[in-house]
Amino acid sequence: MNALFDSWQRQINYLRISVTDRCNLRCIYCTAESMPHLLHDDILHYEEIHRVVQVAASMGINKIRLTGGEPLVRLDLSRLVGSLSQVEGIDDISLTTNGVLLSEYAVELKEAGLKRVNVSLDTLKKDRFKYITGRDKLMEVLTGIEAAHSAGLHPVKINMVVLRDINEDETVDFARMTINEGWHVRFIEFMPFQATRAETLGTVSAREVRKCIGSLGRLEPCAVKMGNGPAKYYRLPGAKGTVGFITPMTEHFCNVCNRLRLTSDGQLRPCLLDDDEVDLRKSLRNGANIEKLKQLIQEAVAIKRERHHLNEKLTTGERPMCQIGG
Ligand code: SAM
Repeated sequence: MNALFDSWQRQINYLRISVTDRCNLRCIYCTAESMPHLLHDDILHYEEIHRVVQVAASMGINKIRLTGGEPLVRLDLSRLVGSLSQVEGIDDISLTTNGVLLSEYAVELKEAGLKRVNVSLDTLKKDRFKYITGRDKLMEVLTGIEAAHSAGLHPVKINMVVLRDINEDETVDFARMTINEGWHVRFIEFMPFQATRAETLGTVSAREVRKCIGSLGRLEPCAVKMGNGPAKYYRLPGAKGTVGFITPMTEHFCNVCNRLRLTSDGQLRPCLLDDDEVDLRKSLRNGANIEKLKQLIQEAVAIKRERHHLNEKLTTGERPMCQIGG
């Protein structure tokens, strides 16, 4: 079996694919006030994504996550899931979504081969949801989470970005959902992207969140393997679900980074927080053969840096998260 290693001896086996830069929400921390969209022709076609995945799988990529923008606003996403699930070597396809359209698509995505889903949800309060996302869609998201559970897209993980003075008072409510509803909740430290409205927002550290939810009982580390990412997991007393922490700001996890990202316009990006990219789209459209595509993927792996420096630079990124694919 082939395996891909970067210059720091990390094995790279995980590809996150952004299928669109468009989104049906306008989260204050993710999008700029106004943002030009990519043109339809700039976006990789499903057949092009399939080709990249085939070549990447032959080099050692075995896990795929589809993201965006909002992946479910792209037409017929189940068709892409179905075709990627047929690629030899791919054994895990997951999705990151805001959940607004999930109740509509959960069953067909599961049937097409999707294994699991992460749903981004930052508040359980209707008015606050509208403030953070710019849209009045909390009920749709909650229904979407139920639909994902019923369709068997397990584990359904809920991602909450904790924002200073905006939703930090809800971390205990979210943690309680791991006891009462068996949710798997992950608290994510907000990253200040230059390309968004970051200057008005503040990070709440995982340490602070832990202290807050400590009021519900002692957090026991749990060894359950929940995915391919950097979260550290714990369980509260009596909880079926888990609490996870993702700490890009206070404790970087670059030493265990196993991923590459493919942007919706076909740029292969070794790191979310570094603007280096390798252009696959140009080569795909110029009829590149398998060897050429392999060489470009190898190039992206070779320029992967040892670690990001977001916490020293304070802001980063020419492109906002919705364009790169979160
Ligand atoms: N639309 C999908 C969704 O909402 O899950 C996928 C794309 S979204 C960019 C992926 C994840 O990135 C979401 O969980 C979102 O909360 C997170 N995210 C976006 N901007 C962020 C930031 N500045 N800091 C931390 N997380 C961020």
